[in-house]
Amino acid sequence: MSCDYEALAARGVQGLQPYQPGKPVDELARELGLDPARIVKLASNENPLGPSDRVTAAVEKALPEVTRYPDGAAYTLRQTLAERLNVAPEMLTFGNGSNDVLELVARAFAEPGAEIVYSEHAFAVYPIVIQAIGADHVKVPAVNWGHDLDAMAAAITERTRVVFVANPNNPTGTVVEKDAVYRFLQRVPENVIVVLDEAYCEYLQGPQYADGVQWLSEFPNLVVSRTFSKAWGLAGLRMGYGISSPEIADVINRVRQPFNANALAQAAATAVLDDQAYIDRAIEVNRAGLEQLAGGFDRLGLDYIPSAANFIALDTGTDANEVNDALLREGVIVRPVGAYGMPRHLRVSVGLEHENRRCLEALEKVLG
Ligand SMILES: *Cc1c(COP(=O)(O)O)cnc(C)c1O
Repeated sequence: MSCDYEALAARGVQGLQPYQPGKPVDELARELGLDPARIVKLASNENPLGPSDRVTAAVEKALPEVTRYPDGAAYTLRQTLAERLNVAPEMLTFGNGSNDVLELVARAFAEPGAEIVYSEHAFAVYPIVIQAIGADHVKVPAVNWGHDLDAMAAAITERTRVVFVANPNNPTGTVVEKDAVYRFLQRVPENVIVVLDEAYCEYLQGPQYADGVQWLSEFPNLVVSRTFSKAWGLAGLRMGYGISSPEIADVINRVRQPFNANALAQAAATAVLDDQAYIDRAIEVNRAGLEQLAGGFDRLGLDYIPSAANFIALDTGTDANEVNDALLREGVIVRPVGAYGMPRHLRVSVGLEHENRRCLEALEKVLG
């Protein structure tokens, strides 16, 4: 062997464990010789409704233009979204999914020697990004599976550049209420960027919940990140965005690839924003599905973490990987979350009524 390329990798990249996505339906079908139509995938917090008709039409209309580069400034989507959110267009930064935005913020503001604060059991992308850029992890213990914002504020030092807060959090489904988020923002020094990751904010119904956008003018260090992947049903197209002061957006923009938001995703996202009926239905189907799954877990005597999002972390009471393997043999794909420090839990995304039922039946068979 001529050269040890592992040893040549940047220090943060050595030993980096890549993000583990949910198993694709076709992959499981191939592995176990199952009929793909019989497989239920509740593993990636996707919208089970299929795309909005407006998305299908918009993508068809945009297709002939795919030989051209997309609009790097995402003009139409930017105007539409800015108006919808009641923010200035220059406060928006688009990303190839909001994952991209999270990474852009970390790369733009942190470097080796800097600290980035996040919570135990928080979204897996945070530690991956932190390690890849060679910054130092500050992982703050959770309370009742959720973020302990007081402890996170107390963990900030003069080396801290960024704090990630997932609200609601994935994979626990926990949410920090409005007053606590506001108190936290008041405690964080202005020279520390707070990323409020609101990938599931559409599912939050009730006055006790926060909408980070309302605080942007009061806290210039705040970045709210959101996505079209979950409630809006566009996970496969990749479109997310950050909302921040124009100054922060300008800094982030320097490390952004010029064409990170693709043409079909721009067209689809612009179209779906007009489909209020679609998002209303997504929220209602999710509410009913959460109730169905939680009720089923109760009947099976299984513990779970109450969720504000479109998934539930279920406590199998045993090694979740074994339960997961058995569920796969039943054609049900959910997500083990051992990598999040939750070796007994499985994260079950909310599906359609019959999909949730299939999952509950398979669980009963496997655990019974
Ligand atoms: C799914 C998810 C995202 C981002 O997904 P994208 O598809 O990249 O927009 C961000 N944060 C959390 C907490 C998520 O669960």
